[in-house]
Amino acid sequence: MAAPAVASEFALTFSILKTCPVTKARTSILTLPHAVVKTPVFMPVGTQGTLKGLLPEQLEELNCNMMLSNTYHLGMRPGQEIIEKAGGLHKFMNWKNGLLTDSGGFQMVSLVKLSKVTEDGVNFVSPYDEKEILLTPEKSIDIQNSIGADIIMQLDDVVSSTISGPRVEEAMHRTYRWLDRCIKQHAKPESQNLFPIVQGGLDPELRRQCVAELLKRKVAGYAIGGLSGGEAKEDFWKMVHLSTDLLPKDKPRYLMGVGRFVFKEVSQLNHMCLPWRDMFDCVFPTRTARFGTALVPGGELNLKLQKFAKDFRPIDENCKCPTCVRYSRAYIYQIIRKEPAACHMITTHNIAHQMNLMKSIRESILEKTIPQFIEDFMLKMFPNKDYPPWAVDALQAVNIHLPS
Ligand SMILES: [Zn+2]
Repeated sequence: MAAPAVASEFALTFSILKTCPVTKARTSILTLPHAVVKTPVFMPVGTQGTLKGLLPEQLEELNCNMMLSNTYHLGMRPGQEIIEKAGGLHKFMNWKNGLLTDSGGFQMVSLVKLSKVTEDGVNFVSPYDEKEILLTPEKSIDIQNSIGADIIMQLDDVVSSTISGPRVEEAMHRTYRWLDRCIKQHAKPESQNLFPIVQGGLDPELRRQCVAELLKRKVAGYAIGGLSGGEAKEDFWKMVHLSTDLLPKDKPRYLMGVGRFVFKEVSQLNHMCLPWRDMFDCVFPTRTARFGTALVPGGELNLKLQKFAKDFRPIDENCKCPTCVRYSRAYIYQIIRKEPAACHMITTHNIAHQMNLMKSIRESILEKTIPQFIEDFMLKMFPNKDYPPWAVDALQAVNIHLPS
C-alpha cells in the first residue's frame, strides 16, 4: 500500500504518539514515501536486495514494511547501472514498502582487507574484479539516489570502536565534512531522506562536538554510528545514551547495526537501547535461522539437536506464523540438514517473532506499561536473575530496576 503524500520540508514526517515518563521510551508514526512505519521498528537486513530465505511478499505478509539494504553489495552487484535501468530497487525487487540503505563505508572497512581512507574517500580493491575503486561521499550518494531508498546514509569515516587516540577525532571531524559533500550531492531530497551519522568513538566530548556540528545542518533524522564493534558494553550503552540525549527529540533516531552486538547476550531484544532509538537493524534473527536456531520467548531453540526428533509441538505454541501453524519441531529437525526449506521455515518464524515482539513493545509504551514489560522479559530470559551486569546498569539509567 502506498503511503500518503508527506507534508514536510523533508521526505518524511515523524509524529510521536507517546513517550514513557519513566524510561523516555517512545512510540511514533514515521511516514515515508513508501511506508507508514510504527516505531520502535526492527528492520531486517536484505543484503543484496533480498532477505536470505524469504521473498519480499512473505516479508509483507509478516507485517514487515521497512527493510535495510547494503549499498556496497548492490553497488558491486548488480551495480548502479542495472539498478538505475530497473528504476530503483523498489521496482527491481517489487518491494512497495520502506527501504533504508547504508552508505557502503562500513562494509568496505569491515569486509575489504585492503581499504584506505583519505580526505577524498575510501580506497579499496574490489573483491569481485580486483580493480581499485574510490568510494567518495558523492559516489555513495549517487548510488543511493539510484537505489532510491526512503532513508539514505551519509558516507562516514568509520573507525573501530576499540581504537582510541587522534584517529577517532580525525574520523569525527571528517564525518561532518563528508556530510556537507553528501548534502550537496543529494539529488532527490523530495523523495529520499539523508541521515547524518553521529561519530566520536567512546569519547563523550567528541560525541558532543559531533552532535553540535550535525545540528548546524538541516537533516531529516539522525543515525548513531561507530559502536557495536567489540567495545565494552558499558561503554556502548553510555555512548548511545549520551548521543541520543543530545539529539533533537522531534526527529527519528536510528541506532546502526546494534543488534549484532547486543543480541549475543540478551537475545531477541535490545531493551537496553529502547528509550533511545526509534529504528534499528539486525542480521541476527535471519543469520541465526540459517544455523538452525529459532527464537522463542525466553530464549532460543537449536533445532539441530537430537532432543527435537520426537518433539511434535510447533516452534512456539503461541506463534501464528505460517511455520508454527503447519510444522512441528520434529519435522524441521528431520529436514534441517538436507533441505533449504528448513532454513526458510525458521527464518519465517524468527522474523514473525521479532515483529510480534516489537508490536508488544509499542503497545506497552502506549499503555504506559513498558517498565513492567521489560522486567517480565528479562525475568523470562534470566529466570535465575543472573542478568548481565551491563544490562542492569543500562536499565537503571532509565529508571528500570530489575528485581534481584
Ligand atoms: Zn512461528
